[in-house]
Amino acid sequence: MAAALRAQVLVPLEVNGPVTNRVNMVVLAEGYTAAQQGQFLRDATNLMANFFAAEPYSAYRGHFNAYALFVASAESGSDHPTTGGPYRNTYFNSAYEFYDYVITIPPNGLDPDPAHGVGKVEQLVEQWLPEADIVVLLVNDIQPGGSSGVGGPTGRSNRLPIITALNPFPPYSDIVVHESGHFFAGLVDEYTNAYPGYVPVEAPNATRQTQRDRIPWNAWIEPDTPVPTPNDWQWADVVGLFEGAQYQATGWYRPRFDCKMRTLGMPFCEVCREQIVRAIYDKVRPWDDVRPAGELLHANAGQTLRFEVDLVEPVSGALAVTWLTNGVPVAGSSGPVLVLDPASLGAGRHQVELRVADPTPWVRTDPEQRLRATWTWEVLVGGPVLRWTAVGGAAGGRPWFTLEGPAGGSVVLERSADLSAWQPFLTNTAWSGRWDYTNDLPEQGGMEFFRAVWQP
Ligand SMILES: [Zn+2]
Repeated sequence: MAAALRAQVLVPLEVNGPVTNRVNMVVLAEGYTAAQQGQFLRDATNLMANFFAAEPYSAYRGHFNAYALFVASAESGSDHPTTGGPYRNTYFNSAYEFYDYVITIPPNGLDPDPAHGVGKVEQLVEQWLPEADIVVLLVNDIQPGGSSGVGGPTGRSNRLPIITALNPFPPYSDIVVHESGHFFAGLVDEYTNAYPGYVPVEAPNATRQTQRDRIPWNAWIEPDTPVPTPNDWQWADVVGLFEGAQYQATGWYRPRFDCKMRTLGMPFCEVCREQIVRAIYDKVRPWDDVRPAGELLHANAGQTLRFEVDLVEPVSGALAVTWLTNGVPVAGSSGPVLVLDPASLGAGRHQVELRVADPTPWVRTDPEQRLRATWTWEVLVGGPVLRWTAVGGAAGGRPWFTLEGPAGGSVVLERSADLSAWQPFLTNTAWSGRWDYTNDLPEQGGMEFFRAVWQP
């Protein structure tokens, strides 16, 4: 093959934050010629608009980044082997492998070499956006179709792309959203039609359990909903235990009469939506940054301590923010900034803690506490700076000195012969900011050292 110069370019479609703290999606071009780059960017933009129109993605849009990765194909379209053609020379060698609506790339039944398909996806993603969490291959062909890559519900790699034809119209525009449920949230299909060879597994949205307290989504089932739940429209509005899931008509159960994991165009059910929100928080901390940097701070009375958090907030619904000092919530501090006067803590070692939680009603079960995050600073608060402003010797060899520093608290004078064992001998309990002191104590012989210690 001639070493054709292939245009490749990564275009940010929507960047909401650092790739290290977002769910990163990338849409790859398949079957678009070099001249169709503009068309690809429009199609990829539409695809992401459809994606973000679905809940819970619309509420958590700010938790995502989206990019388009253009790579030119020699010809536009895709292969249609089941109908005897047409065949197109495209970058990832996609084909409508089955029934003319299942699109795959090698390795597949037509070409066993991953280097002709999935390997190219892996290489490009590794090169351009190694932080990608969801990879979508957008096939420039008007025949509806797609697939969720190869492999079963377990062992998926986030380098295996969701493949979708250019399906701008419902329900096919929903394929990417449905497939994201598999890839991103570990959901399984809730279909009941037979799919020979498919081995069902326990999943967040499919179970064999019929005992109420063993159903994975038990938290969503009202006590007066029968279990199993009759498979009819009368129960279409509630979460229950509906027989039929994972290509099994009997013996396996799903949470809702209908759901996007069963029917394109339907919303995700409560249980699937919960899993997606939990998957988002598995990737995204509820903040991008906390300040000050570092976990150990030194502060002196008279300074102001300012703590700050850059929250990653859902589009609808605020995060719950709590600030605590030494385990006690600071009254009235539910915003992203906490200003503290170290004097209010007093001298010594203190803890300042930030707690952020997403109180969304969409998540009822969160065993790993993914929707919560905490950050703790250790704060060492010193006393005010005291200075000897004058030192001298009086008649009879008695030392005198003047001590100055901010008023408040008390000051204790200590003395030592060896700078290691200190004896307090005089306390100024109402520290006014200045102390002119002349030592009257009998000399102990040898060297003598004095120090002043401030106390709150
Ligand atoms: Zn569902």
